[in-house]
Amino acid sequence: MVHFVGAGPGAPDLITLRGAALLEKADQVIYAGSLVNSALLERCKESCRILDSARMTLEQVIAAIEETERGGLMTVRLHTGDPSLYGAIREQMDMLDGLSIPYDVTPGVSSFSAAAASLRAEYTLPGLSQTLILTRMAGRTPVPEREALDKLAESGASMALFLSAGMLDQVQAALLKGAYTADTPAAIVYKASWPEEKVLRCTVGTLAETAREAGVSKTALILAGDFLNGDFERSRLYAPDFTTGYRKGTDT
Ligand code: SAH
Repeated sequence: MVHFVGAGPGAPDLITLRGAALLEKADQVIYAGSLVNSALLERCKESCRILDSARMTLEQVIAAIEETERGGLMTVRLHTGDPSLYGAIREQMDMLDGLSIPYDVTPGVSSFSAAAASLRAEYTLPGLSQTLILTRMAGRTPVPEREALDKLAESGASMALFLSAGMLDQVQAALLKGAYTADTPAAIVYKASWPEEKVLRCTVGTLAETAREAGVSKTALILAGDFLNGDFERSRLYAPDFTTGYRKGTDT
């Protein structure tokens, strides 16, 4: 059996209990060494084989899994954050299907959640935005034309950009073509939840300059939107006049 496990954003205690238990049982762990905190590997058994997928192709990863499966042993495939976001798990699952090797997925705390926690921010503020867009700037991996950042930016929604910290001049230009202005609040969160975390608050107009000055060009999440600053309305859910299935409000 293969377990895809979300490692969380970095801090070793931000893995789920289920993910931690699987790591403790694993006979083999294949982890994304470029982003997963290696402190998590301290949970592994002495006999566990540990491979860094940053140095492997998809075929080599699958071959290592297949070999372990043939021996009746268990593999954890450890991905950063939550595996469903930019995790390249689908191609692995398809190949495992082809080999009739069973697998399951344990979710993880994504870096967009960790970044909001570091900023003490809420993405969905009434009256400002009720939508969070998770996306990336097109780079060596293309983005479908209809999802081009300048098009998504027309919504003015809260925005979290992965894999884009090295392209902030283009990010800024694309956001400014949409509903964001140079003064719209923005933030760069480098290595959220790691000891070396950096939280840089700025504006859409100063994203590139801020990153350059701080020497940040990777492993950072770029956030933009009025949720980082603007005036918002209180939630309806907790308003005294609002009746819910659990609480009678003064509106009745
Ligand atoms: N599956 C991961 C994302 C993998 S893509 C998740 O759910 O978070 C890799 C990108 O994620 C990085 O380029 C960066 O933009 C972001 N990222 C991953 N870990 C991060 C962290 N601790 N802090 C800030 N950004 C992070």
